[in-house]
Amino acid sequence: MSDHDHHHHPDEPAIRAEALEGLLIEQGLLDPAAVDAVIATFNERIGPMNGARVVARAWSDPAFRARLLEDGSAAVAEIGIDSGPGGQMEKLVVVENTARVHNVVVCTLCSCYPWAVLGLPPRWYKSPEYRSRIVREPRAVLAEFGTRLADDTEVRVWDSSAEVRYLVLPRRPQGTEAWQEGELAELVTRDAMIGVEQIPEPA
Ligand code: FE
Repeated sequence: MSDHDHHHHPDEPAIRAEALEGLLIEQGLLDPAAVDAVIATFNERIGPMNGARVVARAWSDPAFRARLLEDGSAAVAEIGIDSGPGGQMEKLVVVENTARVHNVVVCTLCSCYPWAVLGLPPRWYKSPEYRSRIVREPRAVLAEFGTRLADDTEVRVWDSSAEVRYLVLPRRPQGTEAWQEGELAELVTRDAMIGVEQIPEPA
């Protein structure tokens, strides 16, 4: 564990929130399952929606895509996403999947993750297994996520840090050429933006 995720001070809002939650549950005013549901919604829906907007814009607007690949932090700021220190991202680097290159993101040291665009990291992202295996045997790990790549596709593994966070720009699925940005955003998954899955062609 690195220390940058683990400085807790008793005045920290998270600690106060936890204390409050405990009190409300104890008094029967709050159902812990309801709290978990809200947190799950934030993690899986609201958080990654920012990233999905970024991806859909890049697919729809070649000039935005070029700026995004050039300077991720500046490009996401253009569409109102603050990736500054409050968003836990000093610098956002966007890496693009192509027919020849597949990118996948890890933090081998701990759990650095681009919060501003993806919300909170999934449990598996923080696991020691993922953090070591994705570097040693990326194709095997990707296959476990259902991602099978052509033999001649190059796999690039990007190691995040407190300073640099990565977002994968997935390949736009075929059959979506006429789709609007809002519809495209609904196709984009968190796992595709981490790089462990590809976005399938819509049915
Ligand atoms: Fe980390």
